[in-house]
Amino acid sequence: MRLNRGRTATSSLFIGGKWKSASSGATREILNPYDQSVVRTVDEGDRTDALAAVAAARAAFDGGPWPSWTPRQRSELLHRTAEYLQRDRAEIARLETLDTGKTLVESGIDVDDVTAVFRYYAGQAEADSGRVVDAGDPTIRSRVVHEPVGVCALITPWNYPLLQASWKVAPALAAGNTMVLKPSEITPLTTVRMVELIEEAGAPAGVVNLVLGAGATAGAPLVESPDVDLVSFTGGLSTGQMIMRTAADTVKNVALELGGKNPNIVFADADVETAIDHALTAVFFHAGQVCSAGTRLIVEDSLHDAFVAELVARTERIRLGNGLHEHTESGPLVSAEHRDKVEAYVRLGIEEGAKLVAGGKRPDEPELSHGFFYRPTVFDDCTQDMRIVQEETFGPILTVERFTDEDGAVTLGNHTDYGLAGAVWTRDAARAERVARRLRHGTVWINDFGPYLPQAEWGGFKRSGIGRELGHEGLAEYRQAKHIYENTAPVPQRWFAR
Ligand code: NAD
Repeated sequence: MRLNRGRTATSSLFIGGKWKSASSGATREILNPYDQSVVRTVDEGDRTDALAAVAAARAAFDGGPWPSWTPRQRSELLHRTAEYLQRDRAEIARLETLDTGKTLVESGIDVDDVTAVFRYYAGQAEADSGRVVDAGDPTIRSRVVHEPVGVCALITPWNYPLLQASWKVAPALAAGNTMVLKPSEITPLTTVRMVELIEEAGAPAGVVNLVLGAGATAGAPLVESPDVDLVSFTGGLSTGQMIMRTAADTVKNVALELGGKNPNIVFADADVETAIDHALTAVFFHAGQVCSAGTRLIVEDSLHDAFVAELVARTERIRLGNGLHEHTESGPLVSAEHRDKVEAYVRLGIEEGAKLVAGGKRPDEPELSHGFFYRPTVFDDCTQDMRIVQEETFGPILTVERFTDEDGAVTLGNHTDYGLAGAVWTRDAARAERVARRLRHGTVWINDFGPYLPQAEWGGFKRSGIGRELGHEGLAEYRQAKHIYENTAPVPQRWFAR
């Protein structure tokens, strides 16, 4: 990423209902990872901008029209945003592809998924949330109501920029919060577009604020600010740990969606053809830059050789290219720095003694030489304690381990500090259920890999995170319960000074 100071800014920060340049005048060029061309120049916000955005969100939560909006009005705001997302689907998908390198088909699916999330929370905004409590005394009226948490800092990563933002923005709005959104500095473009659509949909000034910029300068002040009530973060483990520590100073609510090292367990009785096909998409979709990527293939010993041979043959045929081109199956990695990291992991895998059986290099095609491409890579003969098996590489690297019985498969599947997602492939329904229940991961797929539903909670066990997005719990993160206890027949207690 190239950072410039003193250039004309492009007004891409949204604070208190106004589009603004960065207070310092700094800008950043956003590069297309396919060829390093500049897609757009955006403002590079810093602490001053972040704190201005917090002040705007605080003012809009504590006063102004927003607190008196009814759930119905909030629901309509979300419905309108969903409608505009679909209206501008082609343009937004193209922008996401230019920004991230993913294929246009993937970006289109993302826009549809994001639309579905807005529609789901439009419905949830109006769902009954309070409850009456029977105090056991007819003179007491007790009820629990759910109120918004307050000002939310929503910090998102670069791999699914629009999608991850929607998982936070939609429930936060449904619950009546105000917010400051801080997308990844690497891929902010579709988040800017989403905020424009929410503005067009009629959100009052200060309800949704947008700050662009680096994590340390534009993100950290949001986490430190005493005026922020909740931080919802999606990103890497070490950043999440830092955010949790910082948030402790002001006792903020914290929701963390962190990394994963996700097992894909294949028993010999599986539908092998389908399992191979899904094993490829599980790990190589979006060049492996997916938190729930199936990077650990754990295959039954008797099936191993045939399975891996076919998988490697198909891996070699994966077509890399420009995400805008119809025939491209996978785009580049997001940045030069990220490709360096992936390459370092491949070197490490070789040093650790894993057997490189596919990829392990940049592509040979000259037309790909300007992009951050890396060939889909497979390591066989891996063992559970190798770093390549344990650490999140976040790239197109598959490791293969073997098992001989069900207990062994589960032990391997759980042998990770992470706990985001995993899958089991078998035709034995009872075994599928047993394994699914024993895997310590927030999502488990049976005979599938990757889908999620707006209605079903998403989140991590263990070091994959705290809290849930999507589903009912994804909304509950943005609400707090208040107990209202009413005594309809008060009498003196005469405890003191009788
Ligand atoms: P990252 O942790 O580097 O950055 C994420 C966001 O945090 C960015 O907006 C960044 O600017 C910001 N940030 C960085 N330092 C900060 C600080 N000190 N204070 C406040 N904000 C700060 O992560 P990334 O490289 O952008 O994303 C990849 C990671 O995200 C992977 O580990 C992946 O597994 C994870 N991820 C998880 C999920 C999930 O649902 N669990 C989904 C997508 C991505």
